[in-house]
Amino acid sequence: MSLSDYPFSREAAARVKETGYSLEGLLEEPNREPRLSRLVRRRASDRVLGAVRGEIPDERAHPLAELLSYPLARVMVSCLKDEHLTRRYALAEAKLASRKMVREDLSDLLLLARDLEVFPQSDQDGLRVHFSDYLKAASRMRSPGWKLVNRSLDAGWVAVTSHELARLLEERARERVGQSLPLPVPEDICEKLRADLERIEEELSAKRAEERVDLGEVTEDAFPPCIRGMLDQVSKGTNLAHTARFALTTFLLAVGMDVDEVVSVFNTSPDFDEERTRYQVEHIAGKGGTSYRPPSCATMATYGNCPGEDRLCRWVNHPLSYYERKLKRGGGG
Ligand code: SF4
Repeated sequence: MSLSDYPFSREAAARVKETGYSLEGLLEEPNREPRLSRLVRRRASDRVLGAVRGEIPDERAHPLAELLSYPLARVMVSCLKDEHLTRRYALAEAKLASRKMVREDLSDLLLLARDLEVFPQSDQDGLRVHFSDYLKAASRMRSPGWKLVNRSLDAGWVAVTSHELARLLEERARERVGQSLPLPVPEDICEKLRADLERIEEELSAKRAEERVDLGEVTEDAFPPCIRGMLDQVSKGTNLAHTARFALTTFLLAVGMDVDEVVSVFNTSPDFDEERTRYQVEHIAGKGGTSYRPPSCATMATYGNCPGEDRLCRWVNHPLSYYERKLKRGGGG
């Protein structure tokens, strides 16, 4: 296992310290090690740009530059102070590591697991993770196969395959990378990185424009404040609470969007999982035999999903009534 493949690990952080290189030293102009500095800076920028584009490319040519580029990439993300980018970056680093994890021997995977504070057991009966570690890592995974009730549990241990262990570690890696971001970075350091940061910002705005929610035929201007607020959060990459996600999905289906269109609304979420989202949307749309109606205003208020900030809201008791009334009045007016 190469430490530079898992730069978020504690061991990798210790190795960075041992090398004696400092951020200030690497960004110094003129630089005592111009080649290494260039490589580190370019790779750090590639890491963040990769997160914006959806995938950090694999790079093994220079393990030291690879190792040092990770802390610098975190500094770049911190200078940009963009919550959406921060989440996207943590996810992209975890995905990059995950692509490497599936190629590791079990013994190396177990070492990495310990570093990430998951303590699996492995013997002739197979591989197991304690249910408390399992839950910490699997709580965000929504496909039914990850639910604890669907797993074989023996004296507090959950049987997993090595592939599943890698997936759990990916989730722990995402948390580790996101931990303590954004870092407090002095302004003069961000200034030295200005050229890289501007390029990242440019790509980020282009990506945002590309991903902007397109509601097709639906008259978005007639949506009630609750739904507009949720769409706004989704477009910024914020993960909605379960009840809000349900309310938004049922509403969009009710106003005539199809499953594909609703799924695409959620694809700006930094941890968008198309398969899982499709499963949920299809379920809500009635694939399992029951279709669901959007919740009433009273239910929305109970779950804290009603901002209740519009005059028309006072005359309706259901978000769909709001939509219909507003459409009759001529859409957005
Ligand atoms: S009153 Fe109803 S329609 Fe208006 S924001 Fe609240 S939940 Fe939505």
